[in-house]
Amino acid sequence: EPYVPKYVDINYIDGSTDKKWSSREFSWTKKLEANNKKVFGNHSFRPNQREVINATMSGHDVFVLMPTGGGKSLTYQLPALVCPGITLVISPLVSLIQDQIMHLLQANIPAAYLSANMEWTEQQEIFRELNSDYCKYKLLYVTPEKVAKSDVLLRQLESLHARDSLARFVIDEAHCVSQWGHDFRPDYQGLGILKQKFPTIPVLALTATATISVKEDVVQALGLVNCIVFRQSFNRPNLRYSVVPKTKKCVEDIDKFIKENHFDECGIIYCLSRMDCEKVAEKLQEYGHKAAFYHGSMDSPQRSMIQKQWSKDEINIICATVAFGMGINKPDVRFVIHHSLPKSIEGYHQECGRAGRDGQPSSCVLYYSYSDYIRVKHMISQGVVEQTPFGSGYNRANMAPSGRLLETNTENLLRMVSYAENDVDCRRLLQLIHFGEKFDSLNCQKTCDNCSKNQSFVEKDVTETAKQLVELVKTTGQKFSAAHLLEVYRGSLSQFVKKHRHETLSLHGAGKHLAKGEASRVLRHLVIEDILIEDVKKSDVYGSVSSVVKVNGSRAYNLFAGGQTIKLRFRCAAKAFKSGRAEATPAKGSLTSEKQNLPEMDTPAQPHSEVDLNL
Ligand code: ADP
Ligand code: MG
Ligand code: ZN
Repeated sequence: EPYVPKYVDINYIDGSTDKKWSSREFSWTKKLEANNKKVFGNHSFRPNQREVINATMSGHDVFVLMPTGGGKSLTYQLPALVCPGITLVISPLVSLIQDQIMHLLQANIPAAYLSANMEWTEQQEIFRELNSDYCKYKLLYVTPEKVAKSDVLLRQLESLHARDSLARFVIDEAHCVSQWGHDFRPDYQGLGILKQKFPTIPVLALTATATISVKEDVVQALGLVNCIVFRQSFNRPNLRYSVVPKTKKCVEDIDKFIKENHFDECGIIYCLSRMDCEKVAEKLQEYGHKAAFYHGSMDSPQRSMIQKQWSKDEINIICATVAFGMGINKPDVRFVIHHSLPKSIEGYHQECGRAGRDGQPSSCVLYYSYSDYIRVKHMISQGVVEQTPFGSGYNRANMAPSGRLLETNTENLLRMVSYAENDVDCRRLLQLIHFGEKFDSLNCQKTCDNCSKNQSFVEKDVTETAKQLVELVKTTGQKFSAAHLLEVYRGSLSQFVKKHRHETLSLHGAGKHLAKGEASRVLRHLVIEDILIEDVKKSDVYGSVSSVVKVNGSRAYNLFAGGQTIKLRFRCAAKAFKSGRAEATPAKGSLTSEKQNLPEMDTPAQPHSEVDLNL
């Protein structure tokens, strides 16, 4: 059954605006500061760390939104160290847990973990220690299914609680609770039981990615009470964002980009399929890079070997699926390149976030082609997209999502498309809006491709074009691809057009006068706005997919009868400006420098829009 969240009124308290939490007058302040230095080796606190620690140590439920690398672990490890009792940490992935435990033990903080695939005797050992009067552990890590499925653990928690030895519950990567997020884990939804059974124990929920609806979902599912929310800007000023048209020579372009900008530096190239990873890595090796691939069908010794070589700089480029990166703590990743379209803006933001953890300037380049959208869409609908390691539950590979989940996935993907196709607005702004954060693009300081473009804009009313395109889809029977429809609209006289007698249509060539790329932007906008629907059809013979554009009746009705207008901003091409077809709002800089900067976002028109699936 698809899960539908119910929203009730929840009292949030915005912790960031309350000065109380920054105070250094708490009874534990001295102890905190001393241990932060002595045990963790930190000279100071990072933004919000002190505040979060003070709030959770005061006994409140706390929700923390802090970017990856911001230092969330310290906000529970330090309290765990200085508070009596045990802190239970729920974390989605055994490898993440092991990494954490290793660091804790190195710092002489006793910690243990329980996971489902552990030897029973080993588990017994840990339970014995938990039951002893002077239990040495300060932190106990478990995976979520342990809580959902193990009565033994719940009874153990009760016993700890009875002895006043249960200090705090920590839900790491809390966005996994929500189906609206990109890493939904059904077992996380069972975690509400903690607050039910132990209402007096404070909960600390931590995540690096949460849209507003994800946050509400998490607070709701965990049953947090009067929860104090700390959030900080998700803007990463040292990252430079750009989107580049993806051509057939994509890997050559990547090679050139790396050699020109990040020679011999360290980076990640995210690829869609396992085969892509291997191909891209191989090519880069040919070009002389120390590259390797990493994906879900490698066994764990292979994977950890690659990770090790990477941390030691024996390999400096990893071509990976999203399976790579969780818990990767390499500070000097200088670039994150997306060889194909990510599945959501949240995912994209998170993947880019692995660059520049040391605060030094780093690049994030997305290679985009519209045909990748079709490919990703198809793979999503078939359930064959590689998942992050978290996604191993519901979103299991080879399981086709359905209903609401498929819709959410498709919606997330469309948002990503519109991000990639937007050649006007600040990339930071476009990402941050998504997290409910307001951003003034002046603060970008030209560190994204769109802001550094010296651009002028024209806003054009494209309602007429939109109507014609919808009409064209209808009159051709709702069975052709976007690329083909655009050909007809532009007046092509190809064999395919003739074969279907499209040249006799009144709308054949109706879009002839439009600037190149304009009709396609309008068409894609209509798809994004759900006025047109793009279905993916798999051809049995070649195993390739093609897309078919259809009309969404009710939405299209509004366009025709509802008097809806559609406006799009266009970068001001010099020609259109001179001919005075549209009024320009010139930004800084001269128009003469425009031309060379104009990227061509169009994929070459293919009548069948066939895409190699490459699985
Ligand atoms: P997150 O979980 O938010 O992604 P982590 O807790 O893994 O981030 O911390 C990222 C890195 O920052 C770690 O290497 C950690 O040691 C370091 N770190 C955390 N807090 C501080 C601090 N106050 N001073 C210096 N380094 C810190
Ligand atoms: Mg973390
Ligand atoms: Zn910008």
